[in-house]
Amino acid sequence: MNLTRADLAALPSYVPGRTVPGSIKLASNEVPYGPLPGVVEAIVEAAQGVHRYPDLGVVALREKLSARLGVAVDRIAAGCGSVAMTEHIMRATCLPGDEVVYSWRSFEAYPIIAATTGATSVRVPNTATHEHDLPAMAAAVTSRTKLVIVCNPNNPTGTPIRRAELREFLDAVGPEVVVVLDEAYREFVTDADVPDGLAEFGDRPNVVVLRTLSKAWGLAGLRAGYLVAQPEVAEAVRKVITPFSTNIAAQAAALAALDQEEEMARRAALVVAERSRVRDTLLKLGQDIPESQANFVWLPLGDGSTAFAETCEQAGVIVRPFAGDGVRVTIGTPEENDTFLNAAEKAF
Ligand code: PMP
Repeated sequence: MNLTRADLAALPSYVPGRTVPGSIKLASNEVPYGPLPGVVEAIVEAAQGVHRYPDLGVVALREKLSARLGVAVDRIAAGCGSVAMTEHIMRATCLPGDEVVYSWRSFEAYPIIAATTGATSVRVPNTATHEHDLPAMAAAVTSRTKLVIVCNPNNPTGTPIRRAELREFLDAVGPEVVVVLDEAYREFVTDADVPDGLAEFGDRPNVVVLRTLSKAWGLAGLRAGYLVAQPEVAEAVRKVITPFSTNIAAQAAALAALDQEEEMARRAALVVAERSRVRDTLLKLGQDIPESQANFVWLPLGDGSTAFAETCEQAGVIVRPFAGDGVRVTIGTPEENDTFLNAAEKAF
């Protein structure tokens, strides 16, 4: 007897970056510097109210984001992480059989969410230089396409999409299909030609910009993310959010974290400086490492990926292999990165 959906048997499970006690974790694109100042205090204070439900509409956080981003509060939907927001926007746009176009390889949650939503994934292979192939993605849009996801910079390759290419792509797709710009790593972007999707394209009726507090803002463990869209789209998304899914600690911590923009930026700059150092060192070791605008680098090691990750693990560093394809290594503290680079040098 099959009590659950038969199609789920073939669905891969989400594989998180592993945590191994005593090892350095460079596997989940977290920032290594601990919670931002004031965050723990805000959580402790919020804990006094755990016998009450959280604010269903996440209003205080949406108001704060509205002021910070310069967009009306009704254009924002907030939820428990941007992976949840990805699911919500898919549920708000796709019926079973509708198509979702995205680049591959990209964030591994996209195919899982598409499958559980009942949407059909249309994966467009990355270019030989590990980037989105935007002309091919535009060409893959059909009358069944309801959603296109553009991950900028891309996880796990770190590669960015530049302003002119993105504009051309959005023009080619037209206004009938929702385009999600997943900007989970926006705070680590230093190339001025990589556009801020919200500031530059956020007024287009079909553009949805996805952001998270998990990465640069240091709240991965609490789950807070949001999207900005036109009011009707944001309203539809708010309807499909699981009620009360953003808990009171996450809401309070997000508010406190957003008060620490300067410190967030200082930490992001440390990560960015280390990103250059790690990439330069790997290039000198003869590796083909694509340019990264995120807080990780991509080693396209193909069939050697799993073995490389195992060697790193033996040296006390957990990285994230994608079997047969490559290895993603999160940028940690300078000492953590040194440990990784030493292990890598021995592995090559
Ligand atoms: N988008 C991308 C591209 C990501 O890499 C991640 C996290 N790995 C997310 C969204 C989800 O982040 P969160 O759910 O923690 O906000």
